[in-house]
This record gives sequence, structure tokens and C-alpha cells, in this order.
Amino acid sequence: MSLMAPEFRERTDHQVYWMTGQFRERDREDVYRRTIKPRVRFESRLAIVVAAMIFGMFTISDYFYVGQSAAFYALVIMRAIVVGCCLALAMAIGRWGNYSQRLWLHALPLWILATGIILIVPLRPDTLSTQMLAVIVAIMAFYLLIPNLLTVVTGASLYLSVGFLVAVVLATEVSAVVILRITLLLIMANVVGFFALLRVEYLQRKQFALLHEERGHNRQLLREMAHRRSLESQLRRLAEQDALTGLANRGHFMKRAQTLFQRSRVEGIPLSLFMLDVDHFKVINDTWGHSQGDQVLIEIAEACQQSLRPQDIIGRFGGEEFVVALPDTRLDDAKQVAARLQQAIAGLASRSDMSMLALSVTIGIAEMRPGDSDLDALLKRADKALYVGKREGRDRVVVS
Ligand code: GH3
Ligand code: MG
Ligand code: MG
Repeated sequence: MSLMAPEFRERTDHQVYWMTGQFRERDREDVYRRTIKPRVRFESRLAIVVAAMIFGMFTISDYFYVGQSAAFYALVIMRAIVVGCCLALAMAIGRWGNYSQRLWLHALPLWILATGIILIVPLRPDTLSTQMLAVIVAIMAFYLLIPNLLTVVTGASLYLSVGFLVAVVLATEVSAVVILRITLLLIMANVVGFFALLRVEYLQRKQFALLHEERGHNRQLLREMAHRRSLESQLRRLAEQDALTGLANRGHFMKRAQTLFQRSRVEGIPLSLFMLDVDHFKVINDTWGHSQGDQVLIEIAEACQQSLRPQDIIGRFGGEEFVVALPDTRLDDAKQVAARLQQAIAGLASRSDMSMLALSVTIGIAEMRPGDSDLDALLKRADKALYVGKREGRDRVVVS
């Protein structure tokens, strides 16, 4: 049973030429060949060295069949040349071999070995049955053991088959029936070898295509995950931030400040809280317009961020009202911080294009007391102090 989805199987079938087992798409075939390059170099080199060694070793059987004769010496020289060429080519393939370029480098050892095998026929014409066997083994080795493209192997194998047949006809005196038998055997060996390698080529490319497809899916998945993560953080920001000033909105402020309140209470650390309200903001809106009013709120938020510490929690409580929780801060210190902030905000007007603007804020401060059960108690006291400040004429810091 195939694990591949039917539509994918179909797609791969269309992607590959059935006659050569190669990808129809030139680029894809190139990528495939580049991918298998290291394996091709290693396996080709090994296979050619082994084939050359075996070919060389048959010198022993030459001696056995023809003795110390002129034919023997000719065979030794011929085998030495073939082995030498093959070893040199094996080295060259190990260094430069791949199927993308220099295809001839992969074809050459096969043609040299084939020539060697053909030349044995006239030099040892009496051992035809042994050589017939050797040719069949060589054809199978060409197709299946020495890694090569189907087209290259088929060319070399046909050369070996036809060359061998011609050598048999010219150098031996066998009957037409024997020649016919040899021809049939050679055809069979080629057909079997061809289809076996075709199947291997096809399956390897199918596997490659599948792997690529999967990698593509994985990459896409990773991209989507990253996109989702960024969307999530955007959403979280939207849910927690005030859209105008970028400060924590009321809900998020309350959540963080509650946590801070509990921790401060448990650990016995002081905690102070500001409630800050812009004075006569309605007038600012009425005089300069709503968008300038917005700009003032943005600048106040920036001033808060600049004059407060990173661990202080700043929130926009609503409208022109801000709230700040100051961890590990006693009332006296909070008062100083508030006065500094009040001045910083008052200074904003002079550097904006609303220099006529009289910008002031009133700040109510409260400190956590042992009897406070929750944050609300603290907020209420700060709010009350703020109210007192408003009533007493605004532009001031009031301590609860
Ligand atoms: P007070 O000194 O007593 O605080 O006077 P005030 O005018 O600041 O207070 P009031 O509560 O009467 O008016 C607040 C104004 O703030 C009214 C409202 O239109 C305005 N406001 C609230 N939110 C925004 C905002 O996001 N942008 C702008 N431009 N104005 C806002
Ligand atoms: Mg106000
Ligand atoms: Mg107000």
C-alpha cells in the first residue's frame, strides 16, 4: 500500500519521463543531480575501482587458458591499460564527478571496460562460454552497480553487446545458431537491466520529489506559525494597550497593579499610587480642537514614561485621567516623583505649537496601608486626594 496521496502519486508520474526515469523539468533534474552528487562521487569511484580490479584479476585465467604466449602478453598489456585508465577515471570522478556536467566522465570508464571485454574475444577465442558469462555479468553491473544515468548506461551497454557480437562473428567460428542464442541472451540482459535501472531512477526521483514537497510544506507551516505568533502578539497588544497613548489600558493596568499590590503586601514592601488628571482639558479641546487635545494626551503619556522608572506601571484610566503604581516607593518619595512629573508636564506646553496653552495637572497620591484589603482601597484614597486637589484650585500634588 502506498503512503502517498493519490493526487501526489499522479503528479510525480507526470513529472518523470518514462523512457529515461528523469524529471521532465530541467531545473528539477539539475537540483536532484546536485543533491546526489556526493553519493555519486563516492559510489562511482568505489564501483569502478572494484570493476577494474576484477578485470585485472582475470589475468590469472588468461595464463591458465593461453599459457605464456604472445596472446597472453597482449592480454596483460590490454588489461593493464584498462585498469590504469579506470583507476585514473575513478580518481577524476571522485574529484569532479556529477551528472550535471561532465557526463562523459561517467560514460568513459564503462566504454573502456566494454572495449577491454570485447578485445578478449579475438585474444582468447576458445573460451567463448566463459566470456559470454562475463559479458552478461558486466551488463548487469553497468546497469545496477556502477551508479550512472540510464541513458549513459544504455549507450555503453549496447556498445558492449554489439561490439561483443561483432567480435564473436569476426574472431570465432561459431555457428549461426550459437550467434542467434548469444544475441537473444544479450537482448534479454539489456532489457532486464534497462527496466531494473529505469525503476530505480523513477523511484529515487519520486522519493526526492516527495521529500521536497514535504520540506516545502514544513517551510510554509513554519511561516504560518511565525505569522500566527505575530498576529497573536498584535492582538494581545491591542487588548492590553490604549490605542491613543500606547500605555496600558484600564483593564490591563488593573491586572498588573493587582498583582503588584498582592506581592507588595505579602513581602511587606511599600507601594504608592498616583491618580493624575489634566486640568481644564475641556477648555484645551474647545480652544485648540480635539486632535490637538489628543496630541496633548500623547505627550503627557510620553512625559510619564520618561520621568518614571521602568518598573512603575502607568495606565490611562480613561479620558484625560492617568494612573501610576510605584512599587517599593514610600509616600515622601512618591510626592517628589509627582512634583517632578507635574513640572515636566507643565513644560510640555512651551515646546509645542500651543505655546499659549496653560497645561497643568492635579495629582492625588496614596500609599498602601496595612489595613488595605485590595487595590480599590488605594485607588479610592488617591481619587479622593485628586478631588481635594481639584477643589483647592488644581495644578497641585495632594497626599491622601
Ligand atoms: P477638570 O480640571 O475638572 O478635570 O476639567 P476637565 O475639563 O479636564 O474635565 P472634564 O471631565 O469636564 O472634561 C474632560 C474632557 O476630556 C471632556 C472630554 O471630551 C475630553 N476627553 C476625554 N477623552 C478624550 C480624548 O481621548 N481626546 C480628547 N481630545 N479629549 C478627550
Ligand atoms: Mg480634567
Ligand atoms: Mg477627568
